[in-house]
Amino acid sequence: MRALTLIADRKLELVEVADPSPPAAGEVQIRIKAVALNHIDLWGFRGMAFAKRKLPLVAGAEAAGEIAEVGPGVTGFRPGDPVAMYGALTCGACKACREGRDNLCENVGGIMGFHIDGFARDLLNVPARLVIPVPPGVCARDAACAPIAFATVQHMLFDNAKLEPGETVLVHAGGSGIGTAAIMMAKAIGCTVITTVGDDGKAEKAKALGADYVINYRKDRFEGVVRRITGKKGVDVVFEHVGAETFNGSLLCLKRGGRLVTCGATSGPSVTLNLMQLFQQQYRIVGSFGASLRNIRESLAKMAAGMLPVIDCEVPLLDFQRGLSRLESRQVFGKIVVTF
Ligand SMILES: [Zn+2]
Repeated sequence: MRALTLIADRKLELVEVADPSPPAAGEVQIRIKAVALNHIDLWGFRGMAFAKRKLPLVAGAEAAGEIAEVGPGVTGFRPGDPVAMYGALTCGACKACREGRDNLCENVGGIMGFHIDGFARDLLNVPARLVIPVPPGVCARDAACAPIAFATVQHMLFDNAKLEPGETVLVHAGGSGIGTAAIMMAKAIGCTVITTVGDDGKAEKAKALGADYVINYRKDRFEGVVRRITGKKGVDVVFEHVGAETFNGSLLCLKRGGRLVTCGATSGPSVTLNLMQLFQQQYRIVGSFGASLRNIRESLAKMAAGMLPVIDCEVPLLDFQRGLSRLESRQVFGKIVVTF
C-alpha cells in the first residue's frame, strides 16, 4: 500500500509499505478516502525543533475513510461503514478522557501526522473508540474536514467562548478553513458576523457565506472598522488564530467582559499584553487546541443537516506537497482536501 512519508524537513516521499496486520482486539482497520490539510501539517512539514518525534513519519492529521476490517470485540462497526477519525492517540482512561475532554488527555500518545504516523496512507489500524461514524449524505471529502476544521471551531465557539445567539463575533481570516467554518456556525445560531480577509475576491466569497460585514485588513485597520460597525461598543467574541499581527487589535475590538478565543499564531507566536487593559476591561482570553470526540460528532451532524465545509480544492495524494504550498501561500478560500 501507499504511504506519504516525511523523511526530512520539507521532504515528503510517497513510498510502498506493507499492509497493516489484521486489526487487534478493540481496533478497526480503516481504508483512507480523504485527508484534509491544516496548518499543523505545515508546521510538521517545515520542521519544529521542539516537537518530540522521529522521522520518517506518515503525514496527515485529519481524515475520513471507511471500515475495511473489524477487530475482535468491536461492535457498532461493519466493513464499508463511512467513518472519521480522532486525530490524536488519547489514552481513553485518564480523568480528562473519561469526562469527554479528549484534547486534555493526560497520557496522549501524540498527534497523528505530527508526533506519530498519520493518515496519509491507504490503510491503518486505530482503536475503535477513536472512530466516529459519518452520517448518511456526508461524502468522505467533507467528512475529512470534521475532526480538525469543524470540530476545532465547534469547540472554540461553543465550549470555550460560549457564543450565544444574537451576539456579535469577529472572525479573523474568514477565508481560511476554520474561518469559513466559524462564519457558518456563528450565522447558523443567529449571530452577527464580522470577518477579515486579505483581498476583495475573498470578501465577496465571505459575504456569500453569510458574513454580515467583511473587512479587507490590507486596506483598512480592522480595529477601527469594528468599532465603527459596533457603535464603539465592541464585539462579544473574537475568534483568533492569526496571532502576533492581530492579537492586540483583537483585544481592542472586544467589549467590556468580552471573550477572545485563540487556536493559532500563523503570523507569529509572541505579543506584548497590556495587563491594565486585560483586567479593567474584564476580558476572558481562552486558548483552544483540538477538540473532543463529541465535537466531531456535533460537526458531522451539522454537515448532515446541510452545513457543508467550503472546499478550496481537491488534490490527489501525489500532490500533497502542492496542497501544502497553496496553504502556505494563504491563497485559499476554504479547505484543501487530498483525495485517494
Ligand atoms: Zn486520556
